[in-house]
Amino acid sequence: MKKIIISIIIITIAAGLLGCGADDSEDGLCKIVFFDVGQGDSCLIVSANGSNVLIDTGDGLVNGLITDKLKSFGVKVLDLLIITHGHSDHSGGFTEVLSNFAVKNVITLEGALSSVDLKRAQLNGTAIINAVYENALDLDGISFKFIWPREVLDSFENDNCIVAVAEVNGRRLLFTADVGVDEEAKIIESHPDLSCDVLKVGHHGSESSTSDVFLDIVSPSYAVISVGKDNRFGLPDNSVLERLSKRGITLFRTDIDGDVYMTVDKEGKINIKN
Ligand SMILES: [Zn+2]
Repeated sequence: MKKIIISIIIITIAAGLLGCGADDSEDGLCKIVFFDVGQGDSCLIVSANGSNVLIDTGDGLVNGLITDKLKSFGVKVLDLLIITHGHSDHSGGFTEVLSNFAVKNVITLEGALSSVDLKRAQLNGTAIINAVYENALDLDGISFKFIWPREVLDSFENDNCIVAVAEVNGRRLLFTADVGVDEEAKIIESHPDLSCDVLKVGHHGSESSTSDVFLDIVSPSYAVISVGKDNRFGLPDNSVLERLSKRGITLFRTDIDGDVYMTVDKEGKINIKN
């Protein structure tokens, strides 16, 4: 019953956002920015009509960092904020984002956000929705499908991160958060035709993610590693860099390239600048 209720809520939100269709935009250009937030993840997707989706917030340790980055892209309202899991390098900036932007909807996992944050969000009028396995939504011409976890066992663990596929103008972006090779294997077992054009590399380029078999199935043209410069974990791992390079995958890294900015035009052409 719970899953059915959540499905209905998600579809309702999507319907509300569909008021401005992709055809309203002149160029149909979707903008995507993988922010350099140090050791952490944060990616902004802006639809052709200006709807904003943020996937993770970085750690929030540098006061004003995520706020300034979002403002530099003209963000005032977040139509959707996805928090992939409760680790601070992904969710630590949640409070700052909530304080500085109107956040309409948050999709996360049960237990990923503190009760204080949840209460604050709800007082601000933000809808909190738990991600449901295999659920999909369409937000202003961008479709999202949640392909992991199957169920939440412990949302603070990397193996229970939200993994989502975003599709816009016929191009797919795969956001793997911090899942490891065991979860990747289960994901491709249940999604054998999973493929993407852009892969947000799992767990900041850790050797425990982004297996050979996973890369062979998803077969991205581009990969982005969101990782802090001179981070204490020594990431990204050389083995991951080799797995990517031997397949000819074009790699961008936030520790080297800074914010990684890309666009997908209405014909599906991807342009990347950094
Ligand atoms: Zn992480």
